[in-house]
Amino acid sequence: MQDLRTKVASGERISTDEARWLWQNASDAELCDLASTVRARFHVPDQATYMLMRIVNYTNVCVAQCDYCAFYRLPGQPDGYVLTQEQVFAKLDELVALGGDLAAFNGGFNPHLPLDYYCDLFAAVRARYGDAIEFYALTIAEFMYLADHAKIDYAAAAQRFKAAGVRWITGGGSEILTEEFRRRHSKFKYTVKQYFEAQAAILAAGLGSTATMVIGFDETLDERLEHLERTRAFQDEQLKSNAGLASFLCWTFKPYFTQIGGIEISTSEYLRHLALSRIYLDNFPRIRTSVLTQNERALEGLKYGADDFDLPIEDEVTQKAGAKISLEFEKILGVARELGFNVQTRRVALLS
Ligand code: SF4
Repeated sequence: MQDLRTKVASGERISTDEARWLWQNASDAELCDLASTVRARFHVPDQATYMLMRIVNYTNVCVAQCDYCAFYRLPGQPDGYVLTQEQVFAKLDELVALGGDLAAFNGGFNPHLPLDYYCDLFAAVRARYGDAIEFYALTIAEFMYLADHAKIDYAAAAQRFKAAGVRWITGGGSEILTEEFRRRHSKFKYTVKQYFEAQAAILAAGLGSTATMVIGFDETLDERLEHLERTRAFQDEQLKSNAGLASFLCWTFKPYFTQIGGIEISTSEYLRHLALSRIYLDNFPRIRTSVLTQNERALEGLKYGADDFDLPIEDEVTQKAGAKISLEFEKILGVARELGFNVQTRRVALLS
C-alpha cells in the first residue's frame, strides 16, 4: 500500500493490475485518501460544482432491445411515443423556470424518425434558447444508429449535427465497454470498437463528448477494469490531437421492471468504484458523481474523488427502472455543504 501511496503522490500513473489490487485490498479510507490526492491536482479540495438539468426523452421507441432496459417500447406498441418540438420546448421552459440550463436528449433507436427530425429539433432548440441552455444532443449509441440509418459515416453525421447547432454528444450508451458484456446484454447496440470510432469522429469534428460507465449488472471486476483501461487509453490518444473527453460519469444500474432484474449494488460499492476511477483515470480533470441514481448519498462521492454532479429534474429511462428524483435541491446541496464542500453552480459556458 505504501508503494502505491508514494506512486500516486508523485503523480505516477497506476497500472490496471495495481487498480485491481487496490479494489481488492484498500480500505474505504485509503481509497478516499488516494482519490483526494489525485483530485487535488485538478481542483481546490473543498470546491465542487453542479448543474441543474433535465434529460429529455424524446422517444421511447427502440429496436435495440437491451435486456437491462425498462424504458423502451418496440415499434407498434401502444404506449410508444415521439415528442413534438412544442412538447420539448415545454420541458425546456420548465427547466429554465426552475433555474436550470442543461438538457440532455436521450431516446431510443426509433426506425421511424429520419435524421431531419433530429436536425430540425436541435436547430429549433438552439434558435429558441441560444446560449441560455446548453444541451447534450443524443448519446453515442443513438448517434451511431442515426448515422447507420441515414447511410452516412460517423464523420458526416457529426458535421450534420454540428451544422444544426449541436455542440455536445454524450458518451451515453457505453454501459460496460467489453465486447463480451455487449454480446450478453445489448447485441444490437454496436461493438466497443464502433463505439470508440464514433466518439473519435465526434471529437475530430470539433464537438465535445464525455466518458460514461454504468456498473451493477453482472459485470466482473475484470470487465470494469477493462472499461476503465479502454477509456484511459482512448483519452490519451485523443489528447494528442484535440481537447479529449470533458468528463467521466459513472452511475449504477437500476434493475426494477427490467428483463434481467437483479438487485442494486450498494452505495458503498459505488463510492469505492468512483474513487478507483479518479485514481486510475489520471487524464480526466472532471469526475462526476450520480445524484440521479444515488440521490443524496451521491454527494459523499465528493470525498471519493468526484468534483462535480448534476441535479436532474427528469430522466424517464432510469425512473422507469426505479430511480427516484427529488426536486428538493437545497436539501441535496445542504448535504454537500455539511460534508465541507463549497458548491457552486457551473454555468453552460463552463460545460467543458
Ligand atoms: S438502453 Fe437505449 S438502446 Fe437499449 S433498449 Fe433501452 S432505449 Fe434502446
